[in-house]
Amino acid sequence: MSVFDPKHETMPRAALEQVQLERLQALVARLKRNVRRYRDALGDRHVSSLADLAGLPLTQPEDLIQAFPYGMFALPLREVIRLHSTTGPEARQLVIGHTRNDLVNWGRLTARQFAAAGMTEHDVVQLCFEGGLIKGAAGYTLGAEMIEASIIPEDPYHIDYQLAMLRNYRVTVLITTPSNARDLMEVLRTRRLDPQSLQLRCVLLSRPVPASEREELKTGLFADVRCNFGVAEILNPGLCVECAEGRHHVNEDHFLPEIVDGELVVTTLCREAMPLLRYATRIAATLAADKCACGRTGVTLTPGTRLDGRLRVNEITLYAPQIAEVLSHTRASGTPFKLDIAERGITIGLKISDALFPDIMGDLVTLQQEVEREFATRLGIHAEVRYLEAYHFASSILPQGTCAPFATRP
Ligand SMILES: [Zn+2]
Repeated sequence: MSVFDPKHETMPRAALEQVQLERLQALVARLKRNVRRYRDALGDRHVSSLADLAGLPLTQPEDLIQAFPYGMFALPLREVIRLHSTTGPEARQLVIGHTRNDLVNWGRLTARQFAAAGMTEHDVVQLCFEGGLIKGAAGYTLGAEMIEASIIPEDPYHIDYQLAMLRNYRVTVLITTPSNARDLMEVLRTRRLDPQSLQLRCVLLSRPVPASEREELKTGLFADVRCNFGVAEILNPGLCVECAEGRHHVNEDHFLPEIVDGELVVTTLCREAMPLLRYATRIAATLAADKCACGRTGVTLTPGTRLDGRLRVNEITLYAPQIAEVLSHTRASGTPFKLDIAERGITIGLKISDALFPDIMGDLVTLQQEVEREFATRLGIHAEVRYLEAYHFASSILPQGTCAPFATRP
């Protein structure tokens, strides 16, 4: 498969490390000059080798919250031409800014992934992110334009409409969420449609899936399946390239990755609007520097679990406190609850008590509907409400509104 930017993607390690060092030194100088938080934290520290990185201060997600909205920007807002919002700890909003150069780089870095998946200007690409909820859609569009593929920037609102588009436009590459890919596979299966009747050659998933699921999708959709791995605050997509060997190479000329106490920490080397020094991603990961058959020299990253209790329901990112927050808008406010997270929705077990007037069945049904409606309106997710007797809560004393997941299905 082709390499979009062989100069940087296959650069010998020694040369790559020299590029990283020069970019890190320039970054530290920029941060000291332009971002007060970093000026205070860095003091008179300077970098003379890559080993000095370990002595520089970490940036925590909480720092981004404190500096919200523009306190981490290294350039005046007039030079920032794109703002993307993402969700940080405790469901707080975070903003990521991009200059024109940042967007060009985003396109180039995403194009590396596309080239690695064999995409060319002859491909027709369908981007399907279920309501545009995934901010990475912007990066995929930039990347597809960079390699001059024909991208369909329209979100099919229904699976039948999506299927019709796949057929009519003779789509060869589908970029989507694992849930949508699975839905598509199920529709083909239940309607006994031959996946080969589509022209799909490659499916690029927005996040990694287990090997077994990848194999199932490969067969069910009769296409190669690649997985993206990104971090919204750093870059998603564009942080890594998944090569034909199924390994995620970090784009190390732009991002300097480290593992600190098991956590992935990344420094953005080239970002102009909002550079981040040693950003703690709250994702467990491992890095490997062995040679890869694809020829890329960037270290490979294997992501693990989230370290901050972030949940994903129906491809929507949530934090546990948001559940309590939604409940607080209903008559169930203050009621202890337990949570069961599934791929497509959540089940909330509310503790039955006198306060929840269990004597009239009708009221419980009304409350059930009220809670389900609030979750659909406020978070866009399906929530099923059940009532649990007090003994379900006896093993642990739950403060009111505390979220305690009691089971997580894969
Ligand atoms: Zn490789």
